[in-house]
Amino acid sequence: MTDTSKALHEVPVTTLKHVGDALAAKLAKIGIHNLQDLLFHLPLRYQDRTRITPIGNAQLGMDAVLVGTVTSTDVAMGKRRSLVCKIRDGSGTITLRFFHFSTAQRNGLKQGATVRCFGEPRRGAHGLEIYHPEYRVLNDDNPEPIEDTLTPIYPATEGLTQARLRGLSLQALSFLDNREALQEWLPEAVRQPFNLWNLTDAVRFLHQPPPNADVYQIMEGCHPAQQRLAFEELLAHHLSLQQIRQRVRRQQGLPLHGTGKLVDKFLANLPFTLTGAQQRVAEEIRNDLASDAPMLRLVQGDVGSGKTVVAALAALLAVESSSQAALMAPTEILAEQHYNNFHNWLKPLGITVAWLTGKTKGKKREQQLELIRSGDAQVVVGTHALFQDDVVFHHLALAIIDEQHRFGVHQRLALREKGRNIGAMPHQLIMTATPIPRTLAMSAYADLDLSVIDELPPGRTPVNTIVMGDDRRPQVVERVRIACIDGRQAYWVCTLIEESEALQCQAAEVTAEELRKALPELSIGLIHGRMKPTEKAEVMAAFKEGHSHLLVATTVIEVGVDVPNASLMIIENPERLGLAQLHQLRGRVGRGSIASHCVLMYHPPLSQHGKERLQVMRDSSDGFVIAEKDLELRGPGEVLGTRQTGLVQFRVADLERDKLLLEDIKGAAAQLLREAPTHAQPLIDRWLPHGDRFADA
Ligand code: ADP
Ligand code: MG
Repeated sequence: MTDTSKALHEVPVTTLKHVGDALAAKLAKIGIHNLQDLLFHLPLRYQDRTRITPIGNAQLGMDAVLVGTVTSTDVAMGKRRSLVCKIRDGSGTITLRFFHFSTAQRNGLKQGATVRCFGEPRRGAHGLEIYHPEYRVLNDDNPEPIEDTLTPIYPATEGLTQARLRGLSLQALSFLDNREALQEWLPEAVRQPFNLWNLTDAVRFLHQPPPNADVYQIMEGCHPAQQRLAFEELLAHHLSLQQIRQRVRRQQGLPLHGTGKLVDKFLANLPFTLTGAQQRVAEEIRNDLASDAPMLRLVQGDVGSGKTVVAALAALLAVESSSQAALMAPTEILAEQHYNNFHNWLKPLGITVAWLTGKTKGKKREQQLELIRSGDAQVVVGTHALFQDDVVFHHLALAIIDEQHRFGVHQRLALREKGRNIGAMPHQLIMTATPIPRTLAMSAYADLDLSVIDELPPGRTPVNTIVMGDDRRPQVVERVRIACIDGRQAYWVCTLIEESEALQCQAAEVTAEELRKALPELSIGLIHGRMKPTEKAEVMAAFKEGHSHLLVATTVIEVGVDVPNASLMIIENPERLGLAQLHQLRGRVGRGSIASHCVLMYHPPLSQHGKERLQVMRDSSDGFVIAEKDLELRGPGEVLGTRQTGLVQFRVADLERDKLLLEDIKGAAAQLLREAPTHAQPLIDRWLPHGDRFADA
């Protein structure tokens, strides 16, 4: 492996025959720049064109290669003009139908000709038909041989046909005869214990699986060749996160040795005592803060487990050390709620809390910026706005980020900049209510230490969850009426499939209007993302103080809103939401001592899958159980909120399918770093394209 001049990642695609600048540009669009990229551009699936199916055995919806003699070819008029060619073998007859065809094509398919075609049979008026099959008229004396490997179907893009991609892969594969062309970064000592194929064999196999290959295993992504690549990819990600972590660890942090004075006062003022879990996590944080390496800790705690108090304790430790703490939340509503909590808790201790969001403007903004810059505000609460360039901290030592799954890694890292002026990287505490299954947490957050608040404060009554169709809406409305007349409060949550916020808000407006008509005796509030912050604050305040009975909302209330008297929640079309999100929503009720109910009002008919998912909600109130199920039913991208955070996407690996591999990754990483430490970097470079690499971490 000394001669790197032959390494395929250094050979541009333009080396291949028939690849000019135009084609190279198209390939670049799908991330293919060199021959290694091309070989790692793996088929999405395969077609089996290695065997001929007797026409009589062709099945609906199953791709097949058929060979037959043309019995007739006619142009059918009907709704759309089409060319209809019937072919027959000893076992049966099938129709080939073309809606676009040339005269030459029509003439070629003459009676008596032998045709070999490939396509998917569908049901026609008189038996099976294939629309636009790929076909060849065979020369009976010298028929072209049929394929002897499974046919790969590659992820393509406009202007790049499958035939083109196949041709290019074949050319690239020919380079593999030189065994050093694709560098094997996993030494035998790593491959052997985990039974991993060598890289070249795996890549060759996946581009050209032999006809006897286990197609089903390949389709499921469980073939050893695929597992080898998935393993390598997961390993590369793990190593990359470890690297970030080490880089952060190497930074100078600011040890915070609190005096305990403020903490003691704060705890004495609280109307409750901390749960055992809160105490344990607070202690873990205290230890981290006292260290001179920056803290990087993720606190997981189910909805309502009391993370805010733990955050306040951490902030107090910073203040006791004459430093500043910042708390950042993903939404205005949540930031505001945190601000109110912190303000109420900390003001009696003589602490000033500043407040900054994107909507803080003009004089007010200047004022807050000055409080932050001068250090007069020891604690700052806000949204993303805290990242903006003109926000200068006097002495920021601790950044607390609530609901991490909505922040990207990059945003988290950007905070470091804010600590530049103290010559140390701020400690980071990340809090999330999304319970992330352990294996997933290990791979997605390998850069963080983990604390779990696994205990709810005493006196909570579990929420009773009811699943019913919206054909029973009138009964549900009546139920709301009775609960509210009884002095309780309720949420009515509207969801929409459309990503459009505007449409969601509109739906909530319409629903509020309808409910106001149906329930004239109730005072009904409405809250959605398009309202002004002041309006939202007023509506929230009215609900909190019990002036309104029912709050109609979009999913903006998902996180954090805390109104203990609210004991009933209706969620419309819950089948559209992820289980973790439903769990978050449901967590808004059941915060007091009264029995609470959550009605999941789906729109029938509900699929089997949909039923199972809602069943999970009915049967469990444990966020971890729900998250495990969600992972099983929807996949990790959704669970982690990948779409929001831009968390890295895997190319080959699938966190759900490959979760057994995850268990081995940590050990393999250690083994690799022992055996071949210099291989770690090239491995990361191979799998994490620049955009995803947290290089400047
Ligand atoms: P989350 O973890 O979802 O952010 P919060 O911090 O909002 O939860 O806490 C939920 C509610 O529980 C709040 O009203 C909070 O004051 C209350 N709470 C927190 N800790 C305790 C405790 N140890 N005992 C009783 N109530 C608590
Ligand atoms: Mg919270």
